[in-house]
Amino acid sequence: LRYFSHLPLTVPIKLPNGLEYEQPTGLFINNKFVPSKQKKTFEVINPSTEEEICHVYEGREDDVEDAVKAADVAFNNGSWSTIDPLARGNALYKLAEFIEKDKDVIASIETLDNGKAISSARGDVDLVINYLKSAAGYADKIDGRLIDTGSSHFSYTRREPLGVCGQIIPWNFPLLMWAWKIAPALVTGNTVVLKTAESTPLSALYVSKYIPQAGIPPGVVNIVSGFGKIVGEAISNHPKVKKIAFTGSTATGKHIYQTAAASLKKATLELGGKSPNIVFADANIKQAVDNIILGIYYNSGEVCCAGSRVYVEESIYDEVINQLKIASEAVKVGDPFDENTFQGAQTSQNQLSKILSYVEIGKKEGATLITGGERLGDKGYFVRPTVFGDVNEQMRIVKEEIFGPVVTVTKFKNLDEVVEMANDSEYGLAAGIHTVNINTAIKVADRLKAGTVWINTYNDFHHSVPFGGFNASGLGREMGAETLENYTQVKAVRAKLV
Ligand code: NAD
Repeated sequence: LRYFSHLPLTVPIKLPNGLEYEQPTGLFINNKFVPSKQKKTFEVINPSTEEEICHVYEGREDDVEDAVKAADVAFNNGSWSTIDPLARGNALYKLAEFIEKDKDVIASIETLDNGKAISSARGDVDLVINYLKSAAGYADKIDGRLIDTGSSHFSYTRREPLGVCGQIIPWNFPLLMWAWKIAPALVTGNTVVLKTAESTPLSALYVSKYIPQAGIPPGVVNIVSGFGKIVGEAISNHPKVKKIAFTGSTATGKHIYQTAAASLKKATLELGGKSPNIVFADANIKQAVDNIILGIYYNSGEVCCAGSRVYVEESIYDEVINQLKIASEAVKVGDPFDENTFQGAQTSQNQLSKILSYVEIGKKEGATLITGGERLGDKGYFVRPTVFGDVNEQMRIVKEEIFGPVVTVTKFKNLDEVVEMANDSEYGLAAGIHTVNINTAIKVADRLKAGTVWINTYNDFHHSVPFGGFNASGLGREMGAETLENYTQVKAVRAKLV
C-alpha cells in the first residue's frame, strides 16, 4: 500500500495489443469518480508479466459510509425506485449498448487485469452485453397478484425493491460478476454498493463512466474498490444495507452470511465447487474430451463450476486418459493477448502457489501425474494443464477446490456407482454428463445434486438460464427470471370496501 496524495483520477494505459485508454482510479460514488477519503491507494498487477499496471484508490469504512448514504438517498428519493419500470429497462439497455460499442477495450482491460485469454475475455463481454439486455427486458414484467377474497375487500400484492444492496464480487470473472449482480438489482428498482476484488478492480471502474451516460441517476450504482476485511466487512455489517449478494469462496461466504444475519439482511451466495464431469462408455469420446478440456482449462481453471472431477466408465478409461493427455498437452498456454491462446495466466501469485501446492499434495497422496503439474516459464503466473489419474475419493485433490487447471480422473463401473461418487461432495454447483442415451442422461441429471447439469456440453452459460448451487455451493440463483426473486419483496395490500 502506498499513500498517493496526487494520484490522478484517470491514468493513461497503453494495452499490449496497441489499444490505449484512460483508466479511472477513483471510487465511483454518486455518479462521480472521487479519491478515497484517506487517499490511500493500492497497486494493480498484470498477472502475465507480474508488472504494475497502475494504482487505484483504496476505499475504507468512511468511503463505504459515503457510498451507502448515496445509495440510500437515491433509493428514497424515488429517482430510480419508483419511476416507470420501462425507464429502468431502457437505461440498462443503453448501458449494454455503450459496453457493446467499446467491447474491444473492455475485453482487453479484463485480460490485462485478470490474465485470462483475450478470446475468453471477449466471451465474457458478450455475456455481459446479452445479460444486461435480457435483464432490461424484465423491467416492466414484474407483477403482483390480484387475489379474490370476496366482494367486501380488495386484495393484491406488489413486488417491491429491497433498498440498498451490498454486492461483493471475485476476481475470476470481474465484469461478468459485476453484470450478474447489478443488472437484477437495478431492473427491480434497488440501488447498489459494490466492492470489486482487490486484484481486479479495473473493468468495473472503467464501465462506470457509462452509468451516467446511460441515464442512471446519481447514487444508484456505487463502486468501492478495496479489501475484503475492510470494505467487504463494512458493507456486510452496514445496517442500511438490506441485502448482500456475494460470489467467492465458501469460507468467506459462510462468514458473510453470519455477518448478514446480525442485521437480518437477505443474502445470496454463489460459492465454491468441485464439480463432477461424467463420461459414459457410449459417449462420443472426442466430443467428451473437448468438453473435459473446456470444463477444466477454460479461464485457466479459475471457474467456480469447473469440471474438476472427471469420472470415466471403465471400458473407455484408457482411451479417454490417452486422448486427454494429448489434448491437454496441445492446449495453448501463455500470452493472454495472443489470439490463439486458450489458457492465460492465473490471476495472482497466491493462486499460482495454491495450485502448485495441490500438485504436490496429489503426488504425495499417490495419484499418478499424467501430464503437467508445473509452472510454465518464470515470469507470469502460468501453469501447465494438469491431469491426475489413479485417484481415489478420499484424496484431497479429489475433495477440495483447487481453482486452477488441474483435473482428476476416476474410473467407474456403473451408473449407480458414479452417481454416488459424483454426489459425495460438500459442494453442488454443477455437473456434466456425456452419453448419447437420453434415458441415461435424464435419469442421471435427476439424481445429481447440482444447481446446473450440462449434457454433452460444459461451462455452457446462457443469460436466460439460472445459475447457482446446492449445499455448500451457495444460496439463491443468478440470471434468468429466478434472480429477480432475490431482489424483490412481496407487499400484500388488503382494502376493506366501504
Ligand atoms: P474470497 O472469497 O476471500 O474473495 C472474494 C471476494 O470477497 C473479494 O472481493 C474479497 O475482497 C471479498 N472478501 C474477502 N474477505 C471478506 C470479508 N471478510 N468480508 C467481506 N468480503 C470479503 O476469495 P479469495 O481469497 O480471493 O480466493 C480464495 C479461494 O476462493 C480461491 O482459491 C478459490 O478456491 C475460491 N474462489 C471461488 C470463487 C467462485 O467463483 N466461487 C471466486 C473466487 C475465489
